[in-house]
Amino acid sequence: MRACVFIFALLAIAHSKKLFIGHQVLRASPESDEHVEYLKELEGDQYWGLDFWTHPVSPGVPVDIHVPTSSLYATTNFLTQNKVPFTVMISNVQELLDKEQAEVEENSMKERNTKSFNFAAYHTLDTIYDWMNTLVAAHPNLVSKVNIGNSYENRPMYVLKFSTGANRPAIWVDAGIHSREWVSVASAVWMANKIATDYGVDPSVTSFLGKMDIYFSLVTNPDGYVYTHTSVSPWDRMWRKTRSRNAGSTCVGVDPNRNWDAGFGGPGASKYPCSDSYHGPYAHSEIEVQNVVNLIKNHGKFKSFISIHAYSQLLMYPYGYTCSSIPHQAELDSVGKAAVKALSSLYGTSYQVGSICNIIYQASGGSIDWSYNLGIKYSFAFELRDTGRYGFLLPSTQIIPTASETWLALKHIMEYVRDHPY
Ligand SMILES: [Zn+2]
Repeated sequence: MRACVFIFALLAIAHSKKLFIGHQVLRASPESDEHVEYLKELEGDQYWGLDFWTHPVSPGVPVDIHVPTSSLYATTNFLTQNKVPFTVMISNVQELLDKEQAEVEENSMKERNTKSFNFAAYHTLDTIYDWMNTLVAAHPNLVSKVNIGNSYENRPMYVLKFSTGANRPAIWVDAGIHSREWVSVASAVWMANKIATDYGVDPSVTSFLGKMDIYFSLVTNPDGYVYTHTSVSPWDRMWRKTRSRNAGSTCVGVDPNRNWDAGFGGPGASKYPCSDSYHGPYAHSEIEVQNVVNLIKNHGKFKSFISIHAYSQLLMYPYGYTCSSIPHQAELDSVGKAAVKALSSLYGTSYQVGSICNIIYQASGGSIDWSYNLGIKYSFAFELRDTGRYGFLLPSTQIIPTASETWLALKHIMEYVRDHPY
């Protein structure tokens, strides 16, 4: 009887919480086109439950693969037999998750007791939304909270608006559209605070806000983000997509960065609802995407659109859906390179700059391709730290260094946009 209860309890936990006990993240290092082809074959497999954190592109570019315990033998065997070199990056995913989870809980208790906010910690959506209120209350003449609509699961989508005058042109910055990319959200929170506290102190921020507004979306996929935290059940720390239900499938969610009306449904997006890069039934099918589209279009004066992701240390410009270059390729490339130079000046972190298609892979339906085609010339996407040591599970000790260096790049882009009206 007791054993029965115990097993039932275990099942209940397993049901509500996606566990990654014994899962590993392998890094494959293809050395030839043939190796790349083998890895593409592996990525196309539907049965082993592999989660490609980065994708096979060309020889010399490593590929990080999150492998469930049940497929470890088969996967390593496949790589060995085809002579694709690989190493183990993370030997037990669950161990890292447990550590991260314990930190999140310990920190939130500390914050509750001291009524403070720790920028060096990962937070739940509720805590971030509460913090937004605190920020607005501290800077009422600069910052306001704009509700741009609700998510699929009916959560409000709040954007911080920094403004010192009416009818200004603006810059859009979003983070967390892929929910498992926690450092994107944490960096955005830090940077939003930096903007508020540096106004009137840092001449660059002050003069920017004298001319333009900033719309900062800290958690652009709130349902997905909540789903990556244990505060609700069920839970999956590795969730990337939205949480919308798909007709005719038991698989949930759409990749909100394959859902934009820019080469929609083309290469680098999946038509299968169970895929992590599922593009959705039609362009802007996701309410979270639609809410941003509405705000940008109704506003009509956005000059820059910046989307913050993780990981890989890249600063990218359009296009993703095609490898042909954009009319402003030379200008965006030089702005990007200068931004990255500023970023690297802090800790020497190295970034690559290029078009999405040329430096990662062809990917259709992405947000910055949509914004660029709408006429928002300064469209960029960041992939923050790291280059795969921890991947999506970047330790919280790296939040402030990541945010501080990224801020220098963002500030460079802001200054350039301010000084180059069009
Ligand atoms: Zn992403």
